[in-house]
Amino acid sequence: MSNILIVDDIAKNIQLIANVLKEFNYNLFFARNAYEAYDVLEKNTINLILLDVMMPEVDGFSAAKVIKSNDKDKDIPIIFITAKNDDESILKAYEVGGVDYITIPFRNVEFITRVRTHLEIAHLNQKLKDQASAMKELASTDTLTKIPNRLKFNSIFEYQIKISKRYKKSLSLIFFDIDFFKKFNDNYGHSVGDIVLIELSKKVNSCLREADALCRWGGEEFVIILPETTDVTAFETAQKLRECISKMKIDNKYTLTCSFGVSTLKEGDYSHTFLTRADDALYKAKNNGRNRVEVLL
Ligand SMILES: [Mg+2]
Repeated sequence: MSNILIVDDIAKNIQLIANVLKEFNYNLFFARNAYEAYDVLEKNTINLILLDVMMPEVDGFSAAKVIKSNDKDKDIPIIFITAKNDDESILKAYEVGGVDYITIPFRNVEFITRVRTHLEIAHLNQKLKDQASAMKELASTDTLTKIPNRLKFNSIFEYQIKISKRYKKSLSLIFFDIDFFKKFNDNYGHSVGDIVLIELSKKVNSCLREADALCRWGGEEFVIILPETTDVTAFETAQKLRECISKMKIDNKYTLTCSFGVSTLKEGDYSHTFLTRADDALYKAKNNGRNRVEVLL
């Protein structure tokens, strides 16, 4: 059910509009001036505003400007309802963000049709926005583990490198992967492999700070971005994760270990040189026997 706010300084006008709308399934809210209107908007979710132009103190145009400048309310359609019908007022109404302009006296059928149309457009707009943000979320999230995917990693990584360089802050990376992951899929089936990846992501995330970003690199490989973290702290973090993981028992029966490569951003680094170094450290950990942490500076 839609919530409609009627703003008019004259009670008779509010009554007139409310009479037309009452046959329909709307929740009606009323305000006698701009301040009352702001108050209603603050306390409720309003879907449409019917706004008088001529009001003492703050007129409808000024009120609309205030409403449109508020992030929460800026998308609420505003229909001006007024006896004023000069060109200048009509132009002004659209200029301040109104979607329609209805002059009194109006024909009921036309009035209600315009109200419904604008409610519908606003509803569709909201739906589109929700879908767009869902798509964005989907495009940046790994579907299995629900952590950021490589695409998202790239944008976080580039951003963090910029910040570190500008503010001379340290930045570290941890690359890690599951030792002999193939055996999970080969011995127990892919669904067990999936569970291992999901549970591992959860465990690692629970051990990290809010500012750290765990991302899925692909397959059984993960990467963690650690802002404001030196090589020493990153090494300690990786060691802690390594121990934590080796003590995990997934589904009360499966155990696993991981190998870790650590590196820290240094002078003259590019994103790819930094990334390659952390990846090389991971290879070193693999070659040196797995279930261990290697640092390359
Ligand atoms: Mg008035």
